[in-house]
Amino acid sequence: MSHRVTLLLGGNKGDMCSALRRAVELLEQRVGEVVATSRIYRSQAWGFHATEQFLNQAVVLHTNLEPEPLLDATQAIECELGRDRRAEAEQKAACGERYCSRTMDIDIMFYDSEVISTPRLQVPHPLMQERAFALEPLCELMEEFRHPTLGLTLRELNENLKQR
Ligand code: AMP
Repeated sequence: MSHRVTLLLGGNKGDMCSALRRAVELLEQRVGEVVATSRIYRSQAWGFHATEQFLNQAVVLHTNLEPEPLLDATQAIECELGRDRRAEAEQKAACGERYCSRTMDIDIMFYDSEVISTPRLQVPHPLMQERAFALEPLCELMEEFRHPTLGLTLRELNENLKQR
């Protein structure tokens, strides 16, 4: 059965425009048909200090993968595009911050309208309503989509965040 999935791609290290292009190609090959991509958004690092800006892009696709195999596939793509979780852990420990620079992060924002909570996976992504860099690209593609647990549309969540 086909599921409609929304991902948020992002990173701030290296040639991010090509990394985003390559990630979308790999998603199309391994995960399913890409039905929409947002434009690329720039933002300052969130939750830690970094000089390089982040680039983010939202992607909507149709997939036959169940949630955890989908996470396996997106994590494999992160690794192939140069993400090194061990080096990140060392960097975070060295500077005492919770986040750090990365070449490619792929977060699962929505999986249909399902609510998923396992040790590996929280969907909808728990922090999207706090993050303009997530809500802006998501709104470009699906602003009337209603968040399955918060009960507001993405447009409303984005307006709420801007008013804070
Ligand atoms: P990150 O360092 O941002 O890639 O996140 C690390 C962990 O978040 C991964 O090991 C995932 O198992 C977990 N995770 C939980 N929920 C999600 C989600 N919705 N999308 C992606 N990763 C998730």
